[in-house]
Amino acid sequence: ARQAAVAEAQGPGRTADGHLVPLLANIGSPADLDAAREAGAEGVGLYRTEFLFLDRTEAPAAEEQRRAYQAALEAFPGGKVVVRTLDSGADKPLAFLPSAAEPNPALGERGLRMFRKFPEVMEAQLGALAEIATDDLMVMAPMVATAEESRWFAQQCRAKGLRGVGVMIEIPSAALRARDLLAPVDFVSVGTNDLSQYAYAADRQLGAVSALHDPWQPALLDLVALAARAAGDVGKPCGICGESAADPALACVLVGLGATTLSMGAGALPAVRAGLAAHTLQQCTFAAEAAREQTTAGAARAAARVHLPELA
Ligand code: PEP
Ligand code: MG
Repeated sequence: ARQAAVAEAQGPGRTADGHLVPLLANIGSPADLDAAREAGAEGVGLYRTEFLFLDRTEAPAAEEQRRAYQAALEAFPGGKVVVRTLDSGADKPLAFLPSAAEPNPALGERGLRMFRKFPEVMEAQLGALAEIATDDLMVMAPMVATAEESRWFAQQCRAKGLRGVGVMIEIPSAALRARDLLAPVDFVSVGTNDLSQYAYAADRQLGAVSALHDPWQPALLDLVALAARAAGDVGKPCGICGESAADPALACVLVGLGATTLSMGAGALPAVRAGLAAHTLQQCTFAAEAAREQTTAGAARAAARVHLPELA
């Protein structure tokens, strides 16, 4: 059994009973691609593109953008690559995009809101992506709050000929109305870092409130469940790309909640793959149900682990 487990640990993400869950990498620049491949990632589930725009007074040239995105497609032939459009704002200010000082940067003009305000930036990024598009290239927008924003983003992408279009679910309104946000797009991906921040009204960068960011918090699990169920109902993928997916027990719970792919920092991939391979989909489902019955993060973790005995 141990040998089988080791063999599983090198193959694609799957549960003990063969339910496939592609395990993808979160990357912050092409420099992360080697580590992702070595850790056995099956593709890129979150390509944070901010690095291209940092420390600059001008937008990156189209050619530079194309090369950066192309590198990910080349690193994973046949694997999917989800590129997230620029996620900046007063919380991640850029020299070439004027961002007025805001009293609450996390609640201000960031993510898709900035993208709408600077159409030339959007045109350049979507244009670069369209030029290298393949069936494996997906594009998704961060910080989408409403169905109208999802429709707008989908229209911009479709107008450029992009076919794999998605939105992140990282604001509670988006999770609550996931069905509406899903209608114009092909997939959603849950960003549990921001989703937790907004669900618990607790700044993700502030140590004093970090206890509220426990990724096992029951309300966070409920919001993920809403998004995953909405996606399952319409037969569209629901990935997870926040830090939650990097905890092997929680990764099983997320699969039990209906997540179809998991994306994480490369370092977490081997343990998550092994944890998943050691449990059946039904164990994952039971773990998810047991976790959601609890009223605290600690109790949710403990209740889930009863159903995940191989993660002792
Ligand atoms: C998230 O918010 O969970 C996420 C994946 O995006 P980022 O951490 O880049 O905000
Ligand atoms: Mg986010």
